[in-house]
Amino acid sequence: MDRDVVVVGAGFGGINALHVLREQGLDAVLLERADGVGGTWYWNRYPGARVDIESMEYSYGFSDELQQEWSWSERYAGQPEVRRYLDWVTDRLGLRDHMRFSTPVTGASWSESARRWRVRAGDSETYEARFLVLATGFLSAPVLPDIPGLPGFGGDLVHTAAWPADGVELAGRRVGVIGTAASGVQVIQEIASVVERLTVFQRTANWCFPLRNRPMDPGYEAFVKANYPEIRRLARETPGPGAVLMDGRIVPTDRRSALEATSAERVAAFEWRWNAGGVHMGRSFGDLITSEAANDELRRFLEPKIRSLVHDQETAARLIPDHRPLTRRPPGESGYYEAFNRDNVELVDLREEPIGSVGPSGVRLAGGREIGLDVLVCATGFDSGTGAVLRIDVRGRDGVGLGEHWADGARVHLGIMTTRFPNLFLVNGPQSPAVHFSPPVLADFQSRHIGALIGRLGPSGVVEPREDAQDEWVAHLGALYDKTLIPKTDSWWTAANVPGKPRQVLNYAGSFASYARRAGRALDGLAAYVVR
Ligand code: NAP
Repeated sequence: MDRDVVVVGAGFGGINALHVLREQGLDAVLLERADGVGGTWYWNRYPGARVDIESMEYSYGFSDELQQEWSWSERYAGQPEVRRYLDWVTDRLGLRDHMRFSTPVTGASWSESARRWRVRAGDSETYEARFLVLATGFLSAPVLPDIPGLPGFGGDLVHTAAWPADGVELAGRRVGVIGTAASGVQVIQEIASVVERLTVFQRTANWCFPLRNRPMDPGYEAFVKANYPEIRRLARETPGPGAVLMDGRIVPTDRRSALEATSAERVAAFEWRWNAGGVHMGRSFGDLITSEAANDELRRFLEPKIRSLVHDQETAARLIPDHRPLTRRPPGESGYYEAFNRDNVELVDLREEPIGSVGPSGVRLAGGREIGLDVLVCATGFDSGTGAVLRIDVRGRDGVGLGEHWADGARVHLGIMTTRFPNLFLVNGPQSPAVHFSPPVLADFQSRHIGALIGRLGPSGVVEPREDAQDEWVAHLGALYDKTLIPKTDSWWTAANVPGKPRQVLNYAGSFASYARRAGRALDGLAAYVVR
């Protein structure tokens, strides 16, 4: 089966890439290991999974017809609705016939003589293509904790990102959740009132911001639809993911220093965002993530919020993080802190009482306490950025493996291409703006960049980035992160969440406008590429 392009992954990124490349006249096919579209929104079926960027922004903006025709039922859509949306888009754009489901890609190798990728998929299928696009997701390789005895747990053991399609029985059962970041927070607040007993195993507390979800108001929907050009423009020009929309208004980021504002102005700005809802507190001022003094002001605002929401003050103290606000991805919450006021919910602080082992009937803490469990939920995150790509045995020029090529850390020019892997492209991949920006907006931009690059190669050209352009890009990422407080905190943002993974900068933290300018310069005369 010989094609122009093989796209891997039917999430937001892959669907977008397939559409753009097919519209350009390329013969593109998409391979997906799941039996339907959705990507991260296919796999993360855990109770309470929902977006935390407003759905009217966290959606495709490349077609006015799509954004005018679709109606979201809530301000922040739940996982089933996002999946339905992606299904609808797939059919609306006529893409389904060009997708192969239940077709996991296991390997891909570049043949220099044929100037093609040979892609192995499913049981024994092989696809040949001139170009390979990996849209395998930034957060799609789940990581289970390395706890002695975990595989021998006798109840239901489940990772949030591999939630069984037919669900897990939770009502009236004793449930433990390991992990208290975005996924853990969503599942904990959702199931607290359903289960008989909930034990939350927390290693690191996080600063959570209230989402304030609500049913979609028809007047608000009409307002957004009438203002989409401006909203999408601002989304491209404003740093950070989404959040141009705030509480029914278009609210650009305040660029002032938090220290320039008076104390009353500062608190009013924080309070307004807290009440408006959403994870974008960082947009209240321009320097909350770069100035320790400004960041201290946000912490001073947030600590009393947690203390006021949680009745037991010892529990509240455990829920207040040590790290600085905004230096990790903040979870959005809807009743998370209040869940700890319930009699059936216990917080186990693993810094005080580490887990010793897991046995068939539950968790044994290092101090000897036994916690009997019927269900153990691991909301323990992902091998971010590189994990999903490296699950595939990708081999470039001279048979070099991607894992070997990135042994000391990923190096991906613009987050799209890496040296020695000709005609291989990533969408929403490592070292792109995917994490600190809106993934759907980025997916479209990158798909069009890839399309433009392909368009300049002629009928048989082969392209890879110049080594010096890639070095410069990676150094630029590091320099941008070094201007922020982020490198001082461990999390998946700094690749510090997976034991043994080299600490590396996986994210572009600059503005999208600068990213777009750099990408444009790279295309100009193909200055950043070697074409042969
Ligand atoms: P995560 O941010 O990596 O959090 C993993 C959690 O598991 C952390 O609390 C971590 O503790 C804990 N953990 C990991 N290994 C552990 C161990 N061995 N023992 C005890 N605790 C352990 O993963 P996530 O919550 O799945 O979120 C990942 C990202 O996905 C988010 O940041 C967000 O970008 C995205 N997401 C978005 C939404 C949404 O609302 N749209 C929802 C879910 C996820 P430590 O902090 O101590 O490592």
